[in-house]
Amino acid sequence: MTSDSYPAFADLALAAPVLDALARIGYERPTPIQAESIPPLLQGRDLLGTAQTGTGKTAAFALPLLSRLDMGSKNPQVLVLTPTRELAIQVAEAFQTYAAAMRGFHVLPVYGGQNISVQLRQLRRGAHVIVGTPGRVMDHLRRGTLQLDDLETVVLDEADEMLRMGFIDDVTWILEHTPEERQVALFSATMPPPIRRVANKYLRAPAEVKIVNRTTTVERTEQKYWIVSGVHKLDALTRILEAENFDGIIVFVRTKTLTAELAEKLEARGYAAAAINGDMNQQQRERTIERLKNGKTDILVATDVAARGIDVTRISHVINYDIPYDAEAYVHRIGRTGRAGRSGKAILFVAPRERRLLRAIEKSTRQAITPMELPTREQVNSRRIEQFKVSITEAMEGEQMPFFHDLVQQYLDETDTDPQQVAAALACLAQRDRPLLLADTGTAERPPFKDTGDRGRTKKPAEKRRVESAEDTEKRQTTPRHKRREETEGIDMERFRIAVGRIHDVKPGDIVGAIANEADSDSVYIGRIALYDDYSTVELPAGMPREVFQHLKKVYVRGQSLRIESLDKAEKREKKKSVRKKTGAKKPGGKKPARTKPAGRKNPGKGKPKPPK
Ligand code: AMP
Repeated sequence: MTSDSYPAFADLALAAPVLDALARIGYERPTPIQAESIPPLLQGRDLLGTAQTGTGKTAAFALPLLSRLDMGSKNPQVLVLTPTRELAIQVAEAFQTYAAAMRGFHVLPVYGGQNISVQLRQLRRGAHVIVGTPGRVMDHLRRGTLQLDDLETVVLDEADEMLRMGFIDDVTWILEHTPEERQVALFSATMPPPIRRVANKYLRAPAEVKIVNRTTTVERTEQKYWIVSGVHKLDALTRILEAENFDGIIVFVRTKTLTAELAEKLEARGYAAAAINGDMNQQQRERTIERLKNGKTDILVATDVAARGIDVTRISHVINYDIPYDAEAYVHRIGRTGRAGRSGKAILFVAPRERRLLRAIEKSTRQAITPMELPTREQVNSRRIEQFKVSITEAMEGEQMPFFHDLVQQYLDETDTDPQQVAAALACLAQRDRPLLLADTGTAERPPFKDTGDRGRTKKPAEKRRVESAEDTEKRQTTPRHKRREETEGIDMERFRIAVGRIHDVKPGDIVGAIANEADSDSVYIGRIALYDDYSTVELPAGMPREVFQHLKKVYVRGQSLRIESLDKAEKREKKKSVRKKTGAKKPGGKKPARTKPAGRKNPGKGKPKPPK
């Protein structure tokens, strides 16, 4: 089946309220993974799906499972296991969105670090769908606070990530504690042997869905990607528009709604932009394309369906604002540029979680997509200043000059002002609606940590990424520990000491899991971990925001508070301690000599360690 022959959502036997929600969201068509997964999941079959994030896999399981829910029962019917808290929240939000027209629907995300009593209350209230990380789900099953007697379906989302983070035993334990007749859907970007083994043991005659990326080549098109980090996509897009010499542009987004929204925002920023989507009739569509051809519009914001077949020679750039679902869609998109022997440029925005999809695209097109640096604020500003100067020169040749010249002269005569002051005031007036310079918003690239004000964004300086071949990627994916090391190459890392070690029976996977969950640092940015008897060291990207650091201090692993601190600081402290021991000196600021301490109390006057949150 090619993407052209995929059915419409309405042909897929989804429940009416689910179709209503889809119409409201503005999805035009099922993505390939959706078209192939929805029918077997609706029939209750087990499913083994090879799909990366960005392919639409969440909806691939959420839509059919929602369609099969018994709304009359409040017991959990669907359990989704995800490797991270971040993904649990995203998946729960997706269920909520797709169930917008299902009255009384409840989905509950459960993950470590969340207040347990709140969670217990929510569980008591009942939820149709539970989305959780393995550790916390296991915890609730053990306590008996999560009942899975009526469970119909288990979804293992990003199974290979769960394996990499050391959760696979927990996952199988949970599977063992679900009703025997349940349906299982396993999604994974790769299928390393341990995941295959889980599939063989727990899935019964599963439908196998694999989106095969056919090899296609694209010539004459320079291809770049930008990792969405620090700067919002819209700001990134406008910076690119300001820095690139472009003629016509197609910006690809995923939904009809977004075509209109983005076109409007670009227009508000002074660009001649228009939306084109599947809601338009043929005549409107042709008119819009005609305007692009004759230069009345420069930027078309389009969905895949709407842009099919557009052949306009002046399209110099294709911007993939939302990543395409697969390599085939990517090739279709970027084929809109580089027409009639001209060269073109394609820019792909990639969210950190979508990097695998980027590698898959590279692999099937057999072409490297190279990282691009976003024009800096300074570059944009100096270009704006240049353009402003040019516009002054051009205005001097305008027809209205004599009139305004006289008007300014009158003003000068009346007020006896310095002409330069007057010119500057006029420049201010000219820029009143749009500041000439980009302000320093402090949102430039930051280290790969969560921006607490904007959930879900993982920061990583794009220019620091190493470009690797797809082959490298495959290799990495089957060698977890090396993966961490390679992925962090080129990033400034800092070593930290954490107060949990071998004697606490801790495994590196526990540490990766806890930190990835709690700091929202994509786990690939967690560097080397060394276990010692009563402590361990872990490498994390330098520049951790204070609030993340404070939060990590309170995280518990294997019953121990992490008490994370910079290794440098820890070593200095240890050194001082040993000097004090040797010389018998008092601790600076310590009021009493050590021997007067009450027995067993190690931190006089320091307060008790905080209980877990
Ligand atoms: P996922 O692979 O589940 O992380 O989905 C990636 C993104 O694609 C999400 O932002 C979805 O909202 C979007 N998406 C999923 N299915 C469709 C569809 N059929 N049409 C347009 N966008 C979609």
